[in-house]
Amino acid sequence: MEKVLLHACCAPCSGAIVEWMEQNGIKPVIFYSNSNITPHDEYIHRLEECIRYARKWGLEIVEDSYDHEAWLGCAAGLEAEPERGARCLECFKHRLLRAAQYASENGFDTLATTLASSRWKSLEQVNAAGEWACSQVTGVTWWAKNWRSGGLQERRNQIIKEENFYNQLFCGCEFSRR
Ligand code: SF4
Repeated sequence: MEKVLLHACCAPCSGAIVEWMEQNGIKPVIFYSNSNITPHDEYIHRLEECIRYARKWGLEIVEDSYDHEAWLGCAAGLEAEPERGARCLECFKHRLLRAAQYASENGFDTLATTLASSRWKSLEQVNAAGEWACSQVTGVTWWAKNWRSGGLQERRNQIIKEENFYNQLFCGCEFSRR
């Protein structure tokens, strides 16, 4: 593993993973690709928190283009699905494919995501989407580490308090606000 691209969904989910990578000699580039988030103010608020945390560690952060209309295409017909259902798998695939494409085009050999740290998400779905996304591009391997084990779940919650992160009460899309 030489160059890691870390897709980040929000600062609360990034905290312990970034800290663990730093402690293990890995300096990832953060990739913020979250066209699922609406309204746009909410998207910006989460982005700003990610920028604040990346700066703390001296990490580069790349913002992907925001296109909620395109994201709605991947959720079409799945609006009524519950969280952890079929819509969420498509949502992960949409964002992680963009991350894998960026990784492949910019010389990264490894891709991971902070989505894997949240107990509200299906780890199985996150890994299936990540494996699939990496299979669509060349030269990028999916890092399927369990980012909830080894005390990382507890550390995640501590860092949220220490950093006073904005901790959103809904996942991101309009369908998760119901
Ligand atoms: S609930 Fe969250 S993971 Fe599921 S589709 Fe909406 S934004 Fe994506």
